[in-house]
Amino acid sequence: MAGAGVDPDWPHVVIVGAGFGGLATAQRLARAPVRVTVVDRNNYHLFVPLLYQVATAALSPADVAEPIRHILGRHPNIRVVLGEVVQVETHAQQITLATGETLNYDRLVVATGSTSSYFGHDEWRRYAPACKSIEEARGIRSRILGAFEEAERDGTADREALMTFVIVGGGPTGVELAGSVAELARYALTSDFRRIRPETARIILIEGGPRILTAFPDSLADYAERALKRLGVQVMTNMPVESITAAGLTAGGRFIPAHTVLWGAGVAPTGAARLLGVSPGLGGRVAVRPDLSVEGLENVYSLGDVAACLDDDGKPLPGLAQVAQQQGDYLGKALYVQLTRGTAPKPFRFHNRGNAAIIGRHAAIFDFGRFRMKGCPAWMLWAIVHVVLLVNFAQRIRVSLQWLWRYLTYRRGARIITTPHIRPSG
Ligand SMILES: Cc1cc2nc3c(=O)[nH]c(=O)nc-3n(C[C@H](O)[C@H](O)[C@H](O)COP(=O)(O)OP(=O)(O)OC[C@H]3O[C@@H](n4cnc5c(N)ncnc54)[C@H](O)[C@@H]3O)c2cc1C
Repeated sequence: MAGAGVDPDWPHVVIVGAGFGGLATAQRLARAPVRVTVVDRNNYHLFVPLLYQVATAALSPADVAEPIRHILGRHPNIRVVLGEVVQVETHAQQITLATGETLNYDRLVVATGSTSSYFGHDEWRRYAPACKSIEEARGIRSRILGAFEEAERDGTADREALMTFVIVGGGPTGVELAGSVAELARYALTSDFRRIRPETARIILIEGGPRILTAFPDSLADYAERALKRLGVQVMTNMPVESITAAGLTAGGRFIPAHTVLWGAGVAPTGAARLLGVSPGLGGRVAVRPDLSVEGLENVYSLGDVAACLDDDGKPLPGLAQVAQQQGDYLGKALYVQLTRGTAPKPFRFHNRGNAAIIGRHAAIFDFGRFRMKGCPAWMLWAIVHVVLLVNFAQRIRVSLQWLWRYLTYRRGARIITTPHIRPSG
């Protein structure tokens, strides 16, 4: 049923995925004479860039997630549906949810994001969780805190392996996780235990290539490595992972006993190409034209991590929240113009607003291309940008206050073990 003041004959835009891209598209169509249905398998929008802070007990899940209905509820022309899309019939312009419910569309927007990739070694997933969902972040938090609890127990034989934390992947995700685990161990937990000294925990960042943060210039990557070392993180490069088990990890021919291994190495697009029945483009993503319409299909668009969109130099745009958000803004406006005036939109152009990675308390790097920043000013800018990007105002205030509190006291409030199985055996 359409909301008050909404004409049931208006064109129907169905958006699959309420991440950065899908949400921005919907928000741009909020006052347009179109009916919009947003479908997501979760009832919340997740602020993925801060998820690692949930995994390391700095923030609670509710700080980084906001109900989609709360964000979009005030717009009568937007309907929110909780459900997983399992089938798309493009010739019939219809999608099917896991419940069997079907929805017809005039325009379909697919923004289903990405998932973690283990480079063909899915068996590593149970030993080395990634940080892509709230469940995974809570599981990681339980594993880290659980390892310290086990190490504290009398008669623990493998204390060294329990107190060793390995993070795989020297990109921004791995660097941020490593820095945050180090701060948790070195500062937040120091007075909590009696038999162990958490600050002596070994934290290792493993990278298969010759250096970390390959997307950043050498000077910023070098600074990040020094900042990590100051935090006591051991950075090991040229160490491609060979195997991961419950006992530890083998990389570059070397076995490292560790009961906690975390995966920050790779992402792959969700299976949207298969869902749409098109051949996968670059990196398995959905190939799109410059106006974000899907190659080979009519009235279907794709954006964000799942879409292979090329820049002016023919290179694929990176999987970043700012890319997805700008594409969503563009597509919302483009669909508005197309559906109301029948005019074709100009091609999408990405404006890089800077690439950042945070290493820990008051240490970050920012790359704007010609202009670069590092250290405390970069950390301040990162914090402001991320807080501003948080969708809900009340959330912004809560998260800012928590950060300020942590900054002044080194305390972490969310040190709660919620997952019963702390680590897999075998
Ligand atoms: C740990 C980590 C840290 C990051 N840090 C940064 C950072 O600092 N800065 C930055 O710019 N980027 C960062 N990124 C990347 C950024 O999070 C992504 O680029 C961004 O989330 C992509 O937005 P999206 O809209 O394409 O997908 P997402 O935000 O992933 O949203 C996809 C949505 O689709 C839904 N969905 C998926 N499949 C279905 C289905 N079949 N049916 C219904 N719903 C479905 C999901 O539930 C989800 O809500 C980080 C990523 C990770 C993993």
